[in-house]
Amino acid sequence: MLSFDLRALEAKAVQVDGSLQPDDPIWEEADNRPAEPIRVSGRLSTAGEGRFYFTGTMEGRVEMACRLCLEDVDVEVSENVHFLLAEIGAEEADDPEVFLYDPNARLLDLRGAVRETWLLTAPAFVQCRDDCKGLCATCGTNLNERTCSCTQTTTDSRWGALLRHQGDPH
Ligand SMILES: [Zn+2]
Ligand SMILES: [Zn+2]
Repeated sequence: MLSFDLRALEAKAVQVDGSLQPDDPIWEEADNRPAEPIRVSGRLSTAGEGRFYFTGTMEGRVEMACRLCLEDVDVEVSENVHFLLAEIGAEEADDPEVFLYDPNARLLDLRGAVRETWLLTAPAFVQCRDDCKGLCATCGTNLNERTCSCTQTTTDSRWGALLRHQGDPH
């Protein structure tokens, strides 16, 4: 549960202990969704008239393809997060770290803020390991698993070729 009664919240801070499902309608098409529900826990309290402050943790997991060899990689995401929610029309509306809510609604819904915080926190790309050798650019062999016959011409990194080119006196 990530929705809280606004009137009750104004009177008393609440303990947040909820989750955001990967198939929640709050997610948009292109989002880097979590592989399992994101667990959100912490404390939600008023921060003055028309403002609420959340501080706590967000934990989840993403499954992504390694950017070099395309093997699936599991990445744990565990972050301390905090954000401010201000009512629509508040002067902080331009601040990207402030989320807006409708003061006329009965419930304060944290899902939008959790989604955006997740998108900022989860990695945009991953590598299966620091020394991943990637795929052969010629035949597509996963070079972490074996070498291929074209390895001789592709072990030169592109950077190496570029640097040599730059050193060229022409
Ligand atoms: Zn890899
Ligand atoms: Zn090859």
